Amino acid sequence: MASEVESSVRERFEERIARITEACTFCGKCFEACPMTPFADLKETEPEAIVRGVIDIINGRPHISGAALWTEVCEKSGLCIEACPEDVNPREMLSYAKLKIQGASNDKEEMSGHSRDYFKLLSRTIRLMAGLQLEPEQFKRLTAVKGGKKHKADAVFYFGCNILQTPHILLSCMDVFDRMGLNYEVAGGVGHCCGINHIRRGDLEGGAAMGRRSLEHFRAYEPEKVITFCPTCQMQYSDFISLYSEPREPVLPFVHITRYLIDNLEALRTLYVRPVEKRVAVHLHGGTDGVEENVVKILRTVPGLEVVDVDQHADYAYQCPTLKAPGAKEELREKLFSSARAAGVDSLLTVYHGCHRDLCGEEADQPFEIENFMTILGQAMGFEYPDRVKTFKLYEDMDRVLAEAGDLLRANGIDPDEARSHLQKAVYP
Ligand code: SF4
Ligand code: SF4
Repeated sequence: MASEVESSVRERFEERIARITEACTFCGKCFEACPMTPFADLKETEPEAIVRGVIDIINGRPHISGAALWTEVCEKSGLCIEACPEDVNPREMLSYAKLKIQGASNDKEEMSGHSRDYFKLLSRTIRLMAGLQLEPEQFKRLTAVKGGKKHKADAVFYFGCNILQTPHILLSCMDVFDRMGLNYEVAGGVGHCCGINHIRRGDLEGGAAMGRRSLEHFRAYEPEKVITFCPTCQMQYSDFISLYSEPREPVLPFVHITRYLIDNLEALRTLYVRPVEKRVAVHLHGGTDGVEENVVKILRTVPGLEVVDVDQHADYAYQCPTLKAPGAKEELREKLFSSARAAGVDSLLTVYHGCHRDLCGEEADQPFEIENFMTILGQAMGFEYPDRVKTFKLYEDMDRVLAEAGDLLRANGIDPDEARSHLQKAVYP
């Protein structure tokens, strides 16, 4: 029997669907704005018919195949949100359509089994990748799930879980917050999951329960805001917040780190101690409110740094790792790298940790460095955390990685020989 929490999640989910169904006028503007439609075989179908089909899917009715095809290629870049003249978030609508399709063709127990297995695998990957790079005490501090009454903090830095695979980015953020005098607590790791890993695999109730639990942990600090880094976490706690909280609960703002830095730009400027004499381009993705503009604006405050605009597919997905439409990732990379080469940059900057993990090893074949934008802020402030993931990727040699990081793995309670094959797949996918 479904628990009370599960029923209320399902009820809220169906309420959102009813709300979307009522508000959508089938104008088709969302479909016309979507950059991913060329990746589905949709040539002959009218936008209105496709959207009607999506509304049929979310209401559990028979639907035209084009609607399912569009749903499948949605990569959450969010261009449709601005295009909608009504009060509908078409990205949310398509996410619900994905869930309905999964629910119609899979057994519930099987879906929760798959999401549990995936989550276990992901947790292991994160633990091993962090174990290669972080001292045990650091890992413990970053991932501790504190129970009971917590002291008050002005902000919670909710860094998500996957950024632990590239800890130099995470530690740079915290160093910047410390220098800015922010009164904050950290919350992250798989113990503070936003629920997306379960929801993506069709387990709405399991994912929503996790997201809800994490939200309660954040609220216990009575913060004014939660500062995020991960675009997925930011999206889960904005687009899908109605699945995680009761309608009358007070809203806890989730603010992306680039928004926080923009709001404190003057304080940030005072922390720069040296110029960073580099010509850079930024690898951008749309989909997370304002991040593209924010990051460029922040970087333009760094003394000595020249930020150039380059032609790129910023509208293909909201981050690289989840970009799955066949051929899209290759197209994105080809255009990005050739534009950066043509612009003669010294460094190509990533924004998100997931993109950084995906791209940093490509530095071997490019005439520029690949760095994260937080590394550049650190350089301007006089500190730098080594990008070990990039170093390990560039080695292309797991023996060398284990020879260098074996002691650290052992200190983290990990046997390098047992971890080898898992690490091989994680570092050299
Ligand atoms: S979120 Fe992006 S990919 Fe998805 S439907 Fe909207 S525009 Fe298309
Ligand atoms: S743009 Fe908005 S109103 Fe128009 S079809 Fe899309 S979701 Fe419906």
